[in-house]
Amino acid sequence: MNSRIVIVGAGPVGAVTALAMAQQGLEVTLLEADTHYDEKPRAATTHASTLEMLAELGIIDEVLRQGLVSPRFQHWDRVSGELVAEFDYTRLADETPYPYALQCESHKLVNIALERLARQPNARLLRQHEVTAIDQLGKRVEVRCMTPEGETTILADFVVGTDGARSVVRKSIGSEFEGYTFPERFIGMTTPFDFEQHYGYANRSYFADPDRWVALFKVADNDMRGIWRVISPATSDESDDVVLSEAALQQRLQHFFPREAAFEIRYRGVYRFHQRVAASFRKGRVFIAGDAAHVNNPAGGMGMNSGIHDGMELTRILAHIARHGIDETLLDRYQRRRRELNIEVVQRDTVLNKRRLEERDPQIRRAHLDDLRRSADDPLAHKQFLLRASLIESVRKAQQIA
Ligand SMILES: Cc1cc2nc3c(=O)[nH]c(=O)nc-3n(C[C@H](O)[C@H](O)[C@H](O)COP(=O)(O)OP(=O)(O)OC[C@H]3O[C@@H](n4cnc5c(N)ncnc54)[C@H](O)[C@@H]3O)c2cc1C
Repeated sequence: MNSRIVIVGAGPVGAVTALAMAQQGLEVTLLEADTHYDEKPRAATTHASTLEMLAELGIIDEVLRQGLVSPRFQHWDRVSGELVAEFDYTRLADETPYPYALQCESHKLVNIALERLARQPNARLLRQHEVTAIDQLGKRVEVRCMTPEGETTILADFVVGTDGARSVVRKSIGSEFEGYTFPERFIGMTTPFDFEQHYGYANRSYFADPDRWVALFKVADNDMRGIWRVISPATSDESDDVVLSEAALQQRLQHFFPREAAFEIRYRGVYRFHQRVAASFRKGRVFIAGDAAHVNNPAGGMGMNSGIHDGMELTRILAHIARHGIDETLLDRYQRRRRELNIEVVQRDTVLNKRRLEERDPQIRRAHLDDLRRSADDPLAHKQFLLRASLIESVRKAQQIA
């Protein structure tokens, strides 16, 4: 049996999943509504657990070439100016061939995966195919899409929805997106100002502050000259235009990183963050993965990573089914492994990471920072912290779930 798989959405999760499935000999059609993947700053931090998977797919060299290796990350107390904890991934050298996080922007990963997918004779990418409806009719799934030439229907044996947080596929299987959206907005911007050179900040640095926390990341940028991303909450009710005005952004940056000259700001945008997990990751022959199945705030860089882990798990399941026939236990295992671990690790840790940054209660705040300090200072705890933060532990745990 050669399963015909339709994957909806060529973001990082859909593109990598399509490549993985095609390499397993499955017949893959990847449908993408847009003409290209948006370059608005989103995922970049790619953890060791995911880098190992990208190595399996033969794209690791290109991903490393276009990314920025970040062997350490820091937690600062912005109020006292103290470095609370520095974590060093090189301590995972005996656990993974990639003892670091790689800052590789998600649009680069999408392009690398799609370029490789184009070489697979059993895969095709159809752009400007916006999926509008999905119907399951026995063993067949009908996928309806809108194209510039009008409506068309594609038949599949299995469908995987990697169509992002507003997933049409998730809605088609009636799966509730359980959880909440943070009431506050978040401001993201980029600047070429070199925070490492001027302040000694690591490529990934978090600054806890009950009034206004900030997360700082360096990515390679398209020209590989490096650019810093700054994310912090908007604390006022002012309109997006006002909070994104040059004056407001300069003031925001100066508040965090005082200096005499103005910062050069290249990108500015408003984000909403959510903590949501779909009630079900599958109905019949239709699955959801990545942001279609779960969303979280970006503290810790886990959304895209865990989405790619979903895609690799689904690949193993569908490749096995293509060779040995339908196995309901195996189909159910997807939900058991991926949904439970998302809640247990990704949702829990990203919520905790955000709380550590914003906590207002002085006692709880001190306890959070002391926890981080203790984890960094004790060699065993340091390693445990990194195994969890890099999602190596969650991938290993998933393999134990039957
Ligand atoms: C500021 C920020 C920083 C982040 N940083 C990190 C990080 O460092 N590390 C990390 O792991 N995660 C991070 N994340 C989360 C990460 O960006 C997402 O988890 C990731 O983009 C999810 O990928 P995806 O492929 O599931 O969905 P998306 O990236 O949303 O891609 C979905 C794709 O589906 C297409 N599509 C949508 N609807 C349809 C349709 N009906 N038909 C056809 N195609 C459709 C879209 O055009 C798009 O191409 C961050 C998020 C934000 C906002």
